[in-house]
Amino acid sequence: MQLNPFEMAQRQFDSCAEFLNLDQSVRAILREPMREVTVSIPVRMDDGSVQVFKGFRVLHNDVLGPGKGGIRFHPEENLDTVKALATWMTWKASLLNLPLGGGKGGVICDTKGMSQGEIERLSRGYISRLWQVIGPEVDIPAPDVYTNPQVMAWMMDEYSKIVGKNQFGVITGKPPQVGGSLGRGDATARGGMFTMREAAKVRGIDLSKAALAIQGYGNAGYHAARLSEELFGSRIVAISDSKGGIYNKNGLNPKEVFDFKAKTGTVVGFPGSENIQHDDLLGLDVDAIIPAALENAINASNAGRIKASIVVELANGPTTPEADEILYANNVHVIPDFLCNAGGVTVSYFEMVQNFSMYYWDEKEVQNRLDTKITSAYHEVLGTSLEYKTHMRQAAYVVAVKRVETAMRLRGWV
Ligand code: NAD
Repeated sequence: MQLNPFEMAQRQFDSCAEFLNLDQSVRAILREPMREVTVSIPVRMDDGSVQVFKGFRVLHNDVLGPGKGGIRFHPEENLDTVKALATWMTWKASLLNLPLGGGKGGVICDTKGMSQGEIERLSRGYISRLWQVIGPEVDIPAPDVYTNPQVMAWMMDEYSKIVGKNQFGVITGKPPQVGGSLGRGDATARGGMFTMREAAKVRGIDLSKAALAIQGYGNAGYHAARLSEELFGSRIVAISDSKGGIYNKNGLNPKEVFDFKAKTGTVVGFPGSENIQHDDLLGLDVDAIIPAALENAINASNAGRIKASIVVELANGPTTPEADEILYANNVHVIPDFLCNAGGVTVSYFEMVQNFSMYYWDEKEVQNRLDTKITSAYHEVLGTSLEYKTHMRQAAYVVAVKRVETAMRLRGWV
């Protein structure tokens, strides 16, 4: 039987709670979101009719600070998915030691069939229905699937109008001209590359001589390829996308492959490369594999073939629990997703800090501060995995959950 995402999030938490022997009262509080709000949003469509959309905002926990998490516009959005994503945001923010809790939102809609005007009215309608449960000190949304900086600008503007003053800090992922931070575009991949650099030191790998394979060549995968070459001089020997993969043992040029894909729709057939099958990429003799595509890409059927020393999980949920055990037994070092891809939320937090202080940093400062935060989180997880003799994912949960539990005790919640 397939678990719904929220049951899966609860099960992951239960397993960590068992591992840490947490109090029943702590478990009872953290298994459920603190607040779930569902609203109906009427929107005037271009043809004059009124269509009503369902919207959600969930606050899982705010013991460490106000909620933080994206808003998705998706035809298959549902409350259970939003609850699961809000729960995961609590652990991600805690793991990075950000003074933030976990939140998430969504609207059931298909923006592909909507005009810009309709999307703007829907974005403003979302805020006019939910403004009481968001705010710079309450819960701060951000972009996610099918929402973007423009949508964030409309939402920030609507909130500011309702409360009667400019409130840039109510939302992150805004365009830089209206309070957005520099350095957010490649923050996820950059953060992941910083964790890969630390893992390489632990594994005794010289990244300037390393060969890497990248699964998925969208936003996360392309920036990872570009940055690993730019920052470390690594060689990208294999790249795949939904249509297949390419290989060249001497290295592929990230920008040229990106331009080729933009022109032809796929990396397959890139001049000077050899075509490979999806699963071949995982079995290559490389130093690190960077999954940057889909969930469950590394599973019980292929995990045993991985020869790489490090798996850099830029994608969300690329490794199944069974594969985790196989990789741990085979001494493969996994940088778990909610550590590896936390660069986005970290720079979102920097955006809030800049909004509150009314002083904006240059891009280098954003990148350096991201490095400090994510490198320190990586080493905390590594230390915990050695202390508890467990794999990096369980260790990341231990760090995140313990920090939340401590705050709950200090605040007298339990
Ligand atoms: P994207 O849509 O830009 O790119 C996804 C890529 O994966 C595409 O190139 C697609 O062709 C490829 N792909 C699809 N199926 C594949 C398959 N079977 N084998 C190989 N490649 C395949 O998405 P993205 O924004 O780059 O996100 C990728 C992953 O990273 C997701 O799991 C996402 O949740 C995660 N992530 C992204 C960000 C971000 O800032 N973009 C932040 C956090 C996490």
